[in-house]
Amino acid sequence: MQINENFRNLHESYLFSRIGEAVRAYERENPSKRPIRLSLGDVTRPLAPCVIEAMHGAVDDLSRAETFRGYGPDATVYGYDFLLDAVISHYAKRGVTLSRGEIFISDGAKSDLGNLLDLFERDNTVLVPDPVYPAYTDANLMAGRTVAYAAATPENGFLPVPDGSVAADIIYLCSPNNPTGAVFDRARLQAWVDYANERGAVILFDAAYEMFISDDSLPHSIFEIEGARECAVEICSFSKTAGFTGVRCGYTVVPSCLTRRGFELGRMWRRRQTTKFNGVSYVTQRGAAAAFSARGEREIAENIAYYRENARMISEALSACGIGYVGGVHSPYLWMRCPHGMTSWEFFDYLLEHAEVVGTPGSGFGANGEGYFRLTAFSSHEETAVAMQRLTELLRR
Ligand code: PLP
Repeated sequence: MQINENFRNLHESYLFSRIGEAVRAYERENPSKRPIRLSLGDVTRPLAPCVIEAMHGAVDDLSRAETFRGYGPDATVYGYDFLLDAVISHYAKRGVTLSRGEIFISDGAKSDLGNLLDLFERDNTVLVPDPVYPAYTDANLMAGRTVAYAAATPENGFLPVPDGSVAADIIYLCSPNNPTGAVFDRARLQAWVDYANERGAVILFDAAYEMFISDDSLPHSIFEIEGARECAVEICSFSKTAGFTGVRCGYTVVPSCLTRRGFELGRMWRRRQTTKFNGVSYVTQRGAAAAFSARGEREIAENIAYYRENARMISEALSACGIGYVGGVHSPYLWMRCPHGMTSWEFFDYLLEHAEVVGTPGSGFGANGEGYFRLTAFSSHEETAVAMQRLTELLRR
């Protein structure tokens, strides 16, 4: 019996499990303390009322024989037409035309970001930004792939540029970026699309935070860029935008013209999904479609505005302490420099110990994250305000 030895190449625990353990240990030792968590990328606002109504209605559908849904026709593995059409309308607002057959409804972005690797041979070289959401690297290391890193640094505005030094076959891009909050503008994204098309590489574009973009001149989708349909797959999610982190729903777009070595990637993905996936529940898809209705978009915008206000509070506190940071404008994340030359984990301990605030050590997102720290705007106004007061008192000491 052989085992997948590639698991040896992974860090012992996923970043957020390690943070959770550290906080639990602190709470055990300090039972009277209540640390405020500005660490997890999880939302806190409840689902939009129209989503709740749609999901209730869908449950009622399931309670009657005439409207009951089971597995449904084959195509429902990829999504019900009502949701595919809602996604099509969402993209149309940005001038992007999609057809139903190019959209695949998923149980969230994380699954597809890893599962898409089934389409590619193990020997491909994968290029991952550094720092970035750790799941890209781990999914590739598990599969035994070589991972190269594209540096995101203050010098390039935390947006890696293609430099030709790595012969990449699969390129992960994330915009707005987790953890830095940086967003690609059209010119910089065009450079990646041109690079991928020249090389015959495929870009896996993670747009999970697209709705946080507050400047309409910035691209929300890679398909707003010329040539992207020939080289990119876009992975998106209702998690952060519509608060579906617990409900679970996302969508992946594989353009029909995306081919490599005579294979249509959309057909391969369809085949893969029908073999290993049985679709997203009817109730969830009804809720997701409601999130993209005119009323849903208004209600979601209110939640995003709520998180934006938290981001503003955090920005204000960091500026008042003279701490360098980026992000928080088109993203729920703020990426700050650790004070006094501390490493990321040193600052994590210092902040927890002296201010009872939990953030995420930047080094957990890649080597270039060392010396940085991520704070998130997903908490309540009240908790964010208290956390920033504590942080300000500590850093001004
Ligand atoms: N992509 C990025 C960049 C994320 O930060 C996250 C979650 O934090 C995900 C994907 C996962 O999204 P989902 O909840 O849809 O699986």
